[in-house]
Amino acid sequence: MKEKVYKILENVTDPEIPVLTIQDLGIVRDVRIEGEEAIEIVITPTYSGCPAMSVIAAHIKMELMANGFKNVKVTEVFSPAWTTDWLSESGKKKLKEYGIAPPVAQARLEKLLFQVPPSVNCPRCGSDKTNLISEFGSTSCKSLMRCDDCLEPFDYFKCH
Ligand SMILES: [Zn+2]
Repeated sequence: MKEKVYKILENVTDPEIPVLTIQDLGIVRDVRIEGEEAIEIVITPTYSGCPAMSVIAAHIKMELMANGFKNVKVTEVFSPAWTTDWLSESGKKKLKEYGIAPPVAQARLEKLLFQVPPSVNCPRCGSDKTNLISEFGSTSCKSLMRCDDCLEPFDYFKCH
């Protein structure tokens, strides 16, 4: 039963980055079967106040209802807080293919300790000569960066 639910949840994608499923994001914390047709999905928002979350919650309900579940509840839990470490490896790969530099592992810690921006590789040519143009890219989850080698701007999925 749970397996079937997880399978259905693979159809739910991030409205901001449609190549990423919510499984790739790692935000599905629990699936609780509460009877024949009743189900509760527990998710952790990628960051509090992310406007995409209400879209995701609605999408989860729609997908499950389309698959015969009549009573679907989506609960948000905020602790422990989501971090980019929860992104799956396939999710990071998809991000890169989509032209967004995936979060650099350990970057969060380095930023905390040394106050330096992480060295981010260009998703197009792989160069590490990249510069931060703006803390905020197309959405607040991303920074806008530019590659010094291919001179292309790109989004970086920020660590937090
Ligand atoms: Zn480049």
